Amino acid sequence: ASGSDENDVVVIGGGPGGYVAAIKAAQLGLKTTCIEKRGTLGGTCLNVGCIPSKALLHSSHMYHEAQHSFASHGVKFSSVEVDLPAMMAQKDKAVAGLTRGIEGLFKKNKVNYVKGYGKFLSPSEVSVDTVEGGNTIVKGKNIIIATGSDVKSLPGLTIDEKRIVSSTGALALTEIPKKLVVIGAGYIGLEMGSVWGRLGSEVTVVEFASDIVPTMDGEVRKQFQRSLEKQKMKFMLKTKVVSVDTVGDSVKLTLEPAAGGEQTTLEADVVLVSAGRVPFTSGLGLDKIGVETDKAGRILVNERFASNVPGVYAIGDVIPGPMLAHKAEEDGVACVEFIAGKEGHVDYDLVPGVCYTHPEVASVGKTEEQVKALGVDYRVGKFPFLANSRAKAIDDAEGIVKVIAEKGTDKILGVHIMSSNAGELIHEAVLALNYGASSEDIARTCHAHPTMSEALKEAAMATYDKPIHM
Ligand code: FAD
Repeated sequence: ASGSDENDVVVIGGGPGGYVAAIKAAQLGLKTTCIEKRGTLGGTCLNVGCIPSKALLHSSHMYHEAQHSFASHGVKFSSVEVDLPAMMAQKDKAVAGLTRGIEGLFKKNKVNYVKGYGKFLSPSEVSVDTVEGGNTIVKGKNIIIATGSDVKSLPGLTIDEKRIVSSTGALALTEIPKKLVVIGAGYIGLEMGSVWGRLGSEVTVVEFASDIVPTMDGEVRKQFQRSLEKQKMKFMLKTKVVSVDTVGDSVKLTLEPAAGGEQTTLEADVVLVSAGRVPFTSGLGLDKIGVETDKAGRILVNERFASNVPGVYAIGDVIPGPMLAHKAEEDGVACVEFIAGKEGHVDYDLVPGVCYTHPEVASVGKTEEQVKALGVDYRVGKFPFLANSRAKAIDDAEGIVKVIAEKGTDKILGVHIMSSNAGELIHEAVLALNYGASSEDIARTCHAHPTMSEALKEAAMATYDKPIHM
C-alpha cells in the first residue's frame, strides 16, 4: 500500500473525528492516510451510534404517531403493525449508504484508507494488522489518535448483547422486549428507551443520580421528565444496581437506594446498560511511546491537540470534553489546521447538545444553575409552544423555549429548547452565542410565520420586554 511511504498525517480511527480530520488534512494539501479497524468508516456514530439510533427513533415515532395521532388528524387505518425486520433493514440501509459515502469522499479527496488495527511502533510509525490478515507499516510525520470510545460496563455484569445489551445490542434487537430496563438516564438510555417504549415495551429507567440528564437546565429537565412519564416511561432515581443476573429467559436486577437501604428486585426481558462511555485505546501501544493519559484513560492534550509526545495528537471521544460527534469533528478540523501551520479553534462552551426523543431537548451555552453559580445577574425569557401558532396548527405543541441573558448587557448566555425538532431550532441560538448576540438581536430579527422558530424570537423578547403572543 502507498501507506508505507511517509505521510504528512496519519489518522488512527475513521469515526467523525478521524475521517473529518483526514479529509480536511487532504484538502489542505497534506499527504494523508486513515487507518480504521472496523471495516467500515464513520466510527461509533455512523455504525452503532447517532445514525442508526436516529433511524429507529424516526421509524418508531412514525408508528407511535400512526397509532395515537393520525386519527385526530382525520387519517384512519383499520390496523397498524410493526414489521421489525423491515424497520431494522431501513436503518441498516441508511448506515450502509452513509459509510460508503465516506469511502467515496476519501477517494475524492485522495485520502489513503488502510483497513486494519493500528498500534504504535514509534511516534512516527504505526503497525497495522489488516482486516485481510496481513501487516503493513504506516509512517507519518504527524499522527492523530482518533480511536474514540467504547461502552462502559458495570462491575459484576456481562454484556452478552442479547439479554444484557449495550446501545449496540439495543439497536439490533430481533424482538420487541415486553419489559426493558435501562440502566442510566443519559441521552443514549432515554433515546433507546423511547424507541422500544414506542414499539410496545414497558420501560423502566434506573438511575443512580437524583435527576435524569444532569447536564440539562433543571427547569427544562423537570418538564422533559414529565413528558417522558406521560409516554409511560418509568423512572427509579437515586437507585443503585447491585447485581444483574440472567435467569432462564429473563434477567433479574437487584437494586438498592443510592443512599443504602433495603434491596428490591426487578425483572426484565432485556436490560440496556447505558451508564456512560469510556475512551478506547486498547492495543494501541500508548505505553510504548509514552503518551500521557488521565485517570479515566483519556489522552491529555494541549489547546493544539498535541499530546506530550511530539508529533502525536489526539481528538474526539478519546480526549476530555463532551463525547459528541460534532465536537469530534470540530476537534479534527482544528487539529489539522494547527498541523498545517494555520490557526484552529473550538469553543467548548458553545457545543450544542441534543436529546433526540420526542419532544427533543436541545441546548447551547449555560444552564440557569450554571449562571447562578457564576454569580452573574441574569434575566430569563420563556415562551411555551402552546402559544406558537405553527405548533398548534400541527397539534405538536408540547415544550418551551428558555433564553437566559445577562442583565446589564442583554448578552445571551444560554438557550434551552424542548420541542419537536428542537435539534434543528437550536442552531439559530448557537450562531447567536457564537457572535455574542443580545437577546434583543434575536427578538428584532424578522422570523417567518408560521414557524416553530418564532417561539425563540418571543422567548428572546420576554427576557427584556413582553412577548406578543402571551
Ligand atoms: P468513534 O466514532 O468511536 O470512532 C473511533 C474509530 O476508531 C472506531 O471506528 C474504531 O473502530 C476505530 N479504532 C479504534 N482503535 C483503533 C485502532 N487501534 N486501529 C484502527 N482503528 C481503531 N453523538 C452525537 O453527537 N449525536 C448523537 O445523536 C449521538 N448518538 C449516539 C448514540 C449512541 C447509541 C452512541 C453509542 C453514541 C452516540 N453519540 C452521539 C456519540 C458519538 O457517536 C461519538 O461522540 C462519536 O462517534 C465520537 O467520534 P470519534 O471519532 O471520537 O470516535
